[in-house]
Amino acid sequence: MSVDLLQTPIEFLKGIGPKRGELLRKDAGVSTYYDMLTYYPFRHVDRSRFSPIAEINSENIYLQIRGKVVDFQLLGQGRASRLVVTVSDNSGSIDLIWFQGISWVKDKFSIGSEWVIFGKPTLFNGRYNISHPETETIAEFIAQPSDPLHPIYNSSEKMKLNGLATRALSKVTRTLISQIKGVIPETLSNNILNEFKFVGREDALINIHFPTDVETLEKARARLKFDELFFIQLRLLRYKNNREQTVRGNIFAYIGDYFNRFYKQFLPFELTNAQKRVIREIRIDMGSGKQMNRLLQGDVGSGKTLVALMCMLIALDNGFQACLMAPTEILANQHYATISKLLNGMDVKVDLLTGSTKKARRKEIHPMLQSGEMHIIIGTHALIEDTVKFKNLGLVVVDEQHRFGVAQRAKMWSKSEIPPHVLVMTATPIPRTLAMTVYGDLDVSIIDEMPPGRKAIKTYHFYESGREKVYNFMQQQIALGRQIYVVYPLIDESETLDLKNLTEGFEHLEQVFRSPQYSLSMVHGRMKADEKDAGMARFKNGETQILVATTVIEVGVDIPNASVMVIENSERFGLSQLHQLRGRVGRGGDQSHCILMTGFKLTADGRTRIETMVRTTDGFEISDVDLKLRGPGDLEGTKQSGVLDLKLADIVKDEQLLRIARNVAQKLLSDDPKLEKAENQRIIRYLEYLSSKKSDWAMIS
Ligand code: ADP
Ligand code: MG
Repeated sequence: MSVDLLQTPIEFLKGIGPKRGELLRKDAGVSTYYDMLTYYPFRHVDRSRFSPIAEINSENIYLQIRGKVVDFQLLGQGRASRLVVTVSDNSGSIDLIWFQGISWVKDKFSIGSEWVIFGKPTLFNGRYNISHPETETIAEFIAQPSDPLHPIYNSSEKMKLNGLATRALSKVTRTLISQIKGVIPETLSNNILNEFKFVGREDALINIHFPTDVETLEKARARLKFDELFFIQLRLLRYKNNREQTVRGNIFAYIGDYFNRFYKQFLPFELTNAQKRVIREIRIDMGSGKQMNRLLQGDVGSGKTLVALMCMLIALDNGFQACLMAPTEILANQHYATISKLLNGMDVKVDLLTGSTKKARRKEIHPMLQSGEMHIIIGTHALIEDTVKFKNLGLVVVDEQHRFGVAQRAKMWSKSEIPPHVLVMTATPIPRTLAMTVYGDLDVSIIDEMPPGRKAIKTYHFYESGREKVYNFMQQQIALGRQIYVVYPLIDESETLDLKNLTEGFEHLEQVFRSPQYSLSMVHGRMKADEKDAGMARFKNGETQILVATTVIEVGVDIPNASVMVIENSERFGLSQLHQLRGRVGRGGDQSHCILMTGFKLTADGRTRIETMVRTTDGFEISDVDLKLRGPGDLEGTKQSGVLDLKLADIVKDEQLLRIARNVAQKLLSDDPKLEKAENQRIIRYLEYLSSKKSDWAMIS
């Protein structure tokens, strides 16, 4: 950003001063003129129109009304006191209510005086009222510059009480704009501006606050949204290009005995075409001389583990070691079990290293990793944080649950001089838009095909009233030799209430499914690791028919004979969690079933989640619904990633613009990789400004 004026601390602006400046910084994140300029209104109202009071019929929408004071009461005592001013227009009357700052406003409203009132109605006891509205006398209203569309800004209660309510903010912004007009730099090249007929950045920044009409406003918003998305993409792609050019990768040139022997003699089934394609993509990438950073997407049960294993064997063929990191111990244990079984008979040394690996065992494993005698190590994050040293680590596979952002990933391989190739596997498919942003610096491989012979899992929704039926069904299934998961929510492992729920549920089930005919085991996050393992093991080897568990079994657990998943209080789970849980069944040849138990009362979102689960088993579809329901900000991992600090753009609603932004960024970089051309100087300058700002992005730029 060329001009220091824009970086002027906000307290220097006329009408702000130190106290309000501090408040703006704290409550609105505004510290400079430029921050104020990009403190966008979230909507506009038409100031030329007054809403008739009688026609108010919805809550939480800003309205402007015009009316006379007809009543005035100071109610309650002390902290409970409130001021109620009743105003009326020709159509009806409404109460204006103040709970705070009463002494300040109470003398303004004499009976019969006329006001322009601006605020959000809420419904209380069947009647609309407006608390803490903004008010102006008719004279004040007329004296104001008349914006055809008046901007509405967010302001905290504290800001409102300190003269920084939305109307004041619009005044401040107007003053600001008059001072900085002419110095707001353009950030896009003429090429891009012309291609998309974007309005200039300065016009956009002014018009987004004070548009002359709706069309101008929309153009301003489109332009600024594009900037947000485009510069994110540009940063991600530059980061990626830069990494590819400067970071050498180990060249895995051979496919040797490990891979070939496994493929010919040990692979228990034919690979799906999708698995073959993905292995080929990864192999080419690892042989290219650049360091691989690849995201492997595939639905639950699509066979990602096998792909990971075969890629690790390629590493071995080229004289390197490989490791596989899982998000939980249970999952690490299981990967270890699966992989050692698959490799049984092959001359490959594999071991397990997690937080609960005993010290003595560690002492044996560490030197083997250091000498290179150990080929593959499987574990949790402890693996990377531990004092583990490898002889030559060539491939890191991360089986993750969207837990890492760009910055975290960068840290992972900073250990060795030539960093290992990195393959990140997502546990649940993520929507393309999110992949483009959160994982925008990675190459993507997708397994879009399930192993053959899988029967689609049948999903049902039952209320409490259907519990009897559910138990009958469970008994029938057990009689057929199947096993059953019963899962309870334990969102926060420290919630005693949830734990009580689980243990009570367990005791109840023990009453219904009595020994010796039936036996049950239980696992949850509060148990010691060995207790947990024991519970899992008894279920896994068929000693118990029912496993009562929390979401510790959410990811990855693979027990093909378990064909029924009962989820208690399923309305409390998120969609991706439900999908993950359901993915625990349907792994063998038997018809599998998922039963979603809920209370009778469901929120609209809760109902959508349950209906979505009943309707489809397609993970990509489910993740799309999830993204729409929750918005990107709430999805796991996106917060840490820092790439979604978007003020205007929404990666769901603005998907098309996001794609355009990515394409434009790609084209730009292939045409001018270092952004050296004169026409791109504005772009590079803005990029430099963005990287100079302190943010989670600091690592990237
Ligand atoms: P994901 O990790 O993608 O959820 P897994 O790797 O755990 O899936 O695989 C799920 C199950 O499918 C495992 O039991 C695995 O052995 C089996 N499997 C994997 N690939 C194939 C295949 N090509 N044909 C048949 N079964 C397969
Ligand atoms: Mg898996």
